[in-house]
Amino acid sequence: MTDERRLLEGIGVSPRVGFGTGRWIGESRAETENPTTDEVDPAVEQSRYESAREVAHDSIDRDRKRALERIGENEASVFEAHREFLTDPQLTDAIETAIDDGEPAPRAVKSAFADPIEQFETMDGPMAERADDLRDVRDRLVRTLEGTDNVALESLPSGTVVLAERLTPSETARLDPERVAGFITQTGGRTAHTAIFARSLGIPAVVGIEAELAALDGEPLLVDGEAGTVIVNPTRQEQRMATAGVAQTVRSEPAETRDGQEIEVAANVGTLADLEPAREHGADGIGLFRSEFLFLERTDPPDEASQRTAYRQALEAFPNGRVIFRTLDVGGDKPISYLDMPAEGNPFLGERGIRRSLEQDRDLFEQQLRALCQAGGAVGDDGGTLSIMFPMITTVEECEAALSVLADVLEGLSETGTPAARPDVGVMIETPSAALLAAELADRVDFLSIGTNDLTQYVMAAARENERVAGLHDPLHPPVLRLLEGVVADAHEQNAWVGMCGEMAGEPRYTPLLVGLGFDELSMSAVSIPEVKDRVSGIDTAEAEELAEHLLECHTRGEVTAALERWSAGVQEGT
Ligand code: PEP
Ligand code: MG
Repeated sequence: MTDERRLLEGIGVSPRVGFGTGRWIGESRAETENPTTDEVDPAVEQSRYESAREVAHDSIDRDRKRALERIGENEASVFEAHREFLTDPQLTDAIETAIDDGEPAPRAVKSAFADPIEQFETMDGPMAERADDLRDVRDRLVRTLEGTDNVALESLPSGTVVLAERLTPSETARLDPERVAGFITQTGGRTAHTAIFARSLGIPAVVGIEAELAALDGEPLLVDGEAGTVIVNPTRQEQRMATAGVAQTVRSEPAETRDGQEIEVAANVGTLADLEPAREHGADGIGLFRSEFLFLERTDPPDEASQRTAYRQALEAFPNGRVIFRTLDVGGDKPISYLDMPAEGNPFLGERGIRRSLEQDRDLFEQQLRALCQAGGAVGDDGGTLSIMFPMITTVEECEAALSVLADVLEGLSETGTPAARPDVGVMIETPSAALLAAELADRVDFLSIGTNDLTQYVMAAARENERVAGLHDPLHPPVLRLLEGVVADAHEQNAWVGMCGEMAGEPRYTPLLVGLGFDELSMSAVSIPEVKDRVSGIDTAEAEELAEHLLECHTRGEVTAALERWSAGVQEGT
């Protein structure tokens, strides 16, 4: 082992920097084979399996509760899926048959999970993450059966940087952010559950590192979850900067650039449990309420009254701000069991978002719009400004059709004696087509909000959760930047305001570029808000515009990244 400083590159998944000592916690815990045991009594193995299942059930429940308290309702729902895997009849049958055929229980579990894991691994996007969930459940069962619980993740020594081939969501939820200085894994993507947990817990994390991580056990490591880099043997100065951490002063007042330009910094939320953290981190409002989360993990859709209550609560949480509800965005990566959603060869290019709302989910769409308008009317001036946003728009006709459904809903309300004011309406710009139609769309609505997660995947033809093409799924590629510039200019020309609610908005190192491009609003995970507000206040708009102009002239992502880094270094030197 040498003391030489080395830089490793991966995918940064949380805007935090940490410094500590590497601790290899091993391969995916149950991937290795056990030696054969000679005499196996199926009846004994069967009862061992049943009691392991009970233990696993209880431990999933504990993890769910812990995630609910420490991370959020949305994230905790992962463990409900784990509970379903644990009792899945196909898996249970396969395990019991293998035991009847004379396999010891741990081996029966491993072999029953092997095929489904492999099948999910070969899929694209979020379905590939299901493999992680299955591994998680398998490992719980195997650990119990073998009595080999892995490292006590809850009580790692302070300053540990966890090194692993992969971390499952439940392992991540067990990490103590007060003690863990970061984690580094070989697999994973920015939008996987593990990454979302890391962001919510505020743990610095880099995934998708190709190097041999076991070799970093005991090494001093700096984890930069923002830049996606790991420095082995960092310099003293780097260590000091990492230990100093990132800006965490929460500002509840709106962020202003040095020259007095106000930028709205809002939060992305999925459930009501996310509202309080959004306020605590100083959000000016909600820039993206992913309403589909109210519809997931259920056996039937929420009724109009319960939707109204939920929307009202969100509006009341931000009485002086704006709350943008995105209408149901299902399909693609968000299947819903009680909706008729036939399997599609390429669901990301299929029936998603507004396409379904205008066709097969039309009744649900109308019901949701009614609940939203009524919630807005009920809170009146005591709540935030109700805004409604349509997802996955690709044509002007879709925008017009959605607006006309809203107009009919408002008319219906007035006829039944409960009139409601027309809310502000916007569309998401997350397809190349919508970006190129920005002027026509902005002419018909009040605002546009760019979803860079989908926009980047459609522009670059690179799935958003596939780490193998993560280099392509990067909004710094020139074609994406050029579309951003065009959308902002077209929106402003039509007197519409324009925001961004994709993950790009929550990357503090991009804040100067986004201010320079002219964004009026940036919406992100709550945890990123303090630092983005901090960055905004250090920016001079004219300088940021110059930076944006310069980056727009670059031909490659490499040039953009290098120019951005040079600019940031120059700013730091100047301060
Ligand atoms: C996006 O596509 O950037 C976006 C914000 O929507 P979602 O991540 O929910 O698809
Ligand atoms: Mg999207």
